Amino acid sequence: MEFEFWGVRGSVAAAGSRTSRYGGNTTCLEVDTPDGVFIFDAGTGIRGLGGRLQDRGIAQCRLFFTHIHWDHIQGLPFFTPMYDPDFKVELYSVPQVTGARALEETLRAQMNAPTFPVPWDYLQAQRSFHDIPEDGAEFDETRIEWCELTHPNGVVAFRIESGSHCIVFATDVEHPSEGADPRLVAFSRNADVLIYDAQYTPEEYATRKNFGHSTWEVGIEVANKAGVEQLFLTHHDPSHDDIFLDELQSTVERARPGTLLTHEGLRVRL
Ligand SMILES: [Zn+2]
Ligand SMILES: [Zn+2]
Repeated sequence: MEFEFWGVRGSVAAAGSRTSRYGGNTTCLEVDTPDGVFIFDAGTGIRGLGGRLQDRGIAQCRLFFTHIHWDHIQGLPFFTPMYDPDFKVELYSVPQVTGARALEETLRAQMNAPTFPVPWDYLQAQRSFHDIPEDGAEFDETRIEWCELTHPNGVVAFRIESGSHCIVFATDVEHPSEGADPRLVAFSRNADVLIYDAQYTPEEYATRKNFGHSTWEVGIEVANKAGVEQLFLTHHDPSHDDIFLDELQSTVERARPGTLLTHEGLRVRL
């Protein structure tokens, strides 16, 4: 199993020279297993991934949505495989958690005139929509489970298992006032990797309660309680530039050696 970060920014894309090393694109994670390419969220980072998939001659993918806030769907109209009639994409979500409006309705609405020039029905790729069952989705050698967590309008974390390896992707989550969310601790048990929302520093979080995001401190608490091998911190605040994140990287390395702040292009093989 391999995974690569194509977008690590939270809330809104933050392009520019001050964010160029960690990257300015919003959330998109690629996970490759023997069953093919699995994509988690379609923030602006998915645009670059689309080009890469076409370069690799890949003709299908499965796209999972943690939730349907803008920073997790806005890249889809720029995912060029969507314009290829030979490309097949399966779209997965948990509508009972992430909003009453179905995923297709939301993706269609963001391409409506007069705020976007290309309508949803112009897209040529072969599309199918899937609600993920309560007990998860099973592919030949890949199993994907979900867990509801706390975020405005709802969110799910995903646990991706393939062979003997396991990744938990928990972006856009707010912890309870007492710290680590016990649901996520149980869901992340013994994972190789936990990817966790650390948009705010503990100091910033004090004035941003109920915004739906968490901190590196609580990420470390979850990872320690769950016995996670390596922690990745993501969904960086758009105001956090490269210098700020470098300092934060030093802080988290001291607090839990091996912890990494994600950056665009970071590819990991398990
Ligand atoms: Zn987000
Ligand atoms: Zn969100």
